[in-house]
Amino acid sequence: MHEQEQREITAVQNRSFWETQKAAQELLSARGIDDAAVDAWYLIEYVTGMDRTKFLLERQRPMELSAQEAYLALVRRRAAHVPLQRLTGEQEFMGFKFRVREDVLIPRQDTEILVEEAVRYLREQPSGNRKEPRKVLDLCTGSGCIAICLKKMCPDIEAAASDLSKAALTAAEENGERLGADITWIESDIFENIDGIYDLIVSNPPYIRTDVIRELSDEVRLFEPRMALDGHADGLYFYRRIIGEAKNFLKAGGKLMFEIGYDQGEDVARLLAQ
Ligand code: GLN
Repeated sequence: MHEQEQREITAVQNRSFWETQKAAQELLSARGIDDAAVDAWYLIEYVTGMDRTKFLLERQRPMELSAQEAYLALVRRRAAHVPLQRLTGEQEFMGFKFRVREDVLIPRQDTEILVEEAVRYLREQPSGNRKEPRKVLDLCTGSGCIAICLKKMCPDIEAAASDLSKAALTAAEENGERLGADITWIESDIFENIDGIYDLIVSNPPYIRTDVIRELSDEVRLFEPRMALDGHADGLYFYRRIIGEAKNFLKAGGKLMFEIGYDQGEDVARLLAQ
């Protein structure tokens, strides 16, 4: 079965774009990829640079063998459950295009909620008689997506972001440069190398319970950095550490905002109350 599927997905002389995409879609769905059609299309777009209209007009045209080969090489990897974003190297977040290297978590749509809440909070406060820019800190920044979007959307803030992983910080810095967001990147284990006092601290830390990680999809379990997932035994390790120290780094009336797991509301509220 396996070998047959492998053989099916080699380049074929004079096969049209349409037929090639269909063959890819069939392989992807046979391997349990949920959005097989969408992924088969995105990879065509990525390899050929065609937009949807051009594709629809030209889909009966034979796809060059070299393009088929480039396409099918990616399709085979997607069939092995490598996330689409690891193949294309990018993910859109809040309308900005982020590079995602293997060292960072792929930005999730869920996390846009945290960014939107933080932006709302920052914009609600009148800038009237403020003498200094408001300072915002993003802990466990990963790709840098949260800090960068906040700086892009609220350019008057002074933004800093930290991560324990040097590789993640390199990726974040690269994203910041590409997107033109001026951020102070700090290598730090939570607050270890942070000084200063902030108006707003945000974080989407790793929050998966260690024993749950093996139940996650292959895309997450095998291809996301484990360090970006693992919230230790009860999943609350980073919240506990951040909450424990945050008061030393927040201005009076400052705010702390988190993304949390769907079932962590009560636990995190309890930590905050303590
Ligand atoms: N803060 C980053 C993000 O939201 C990384 C999160 C993480 O690594 N857990 O994508």
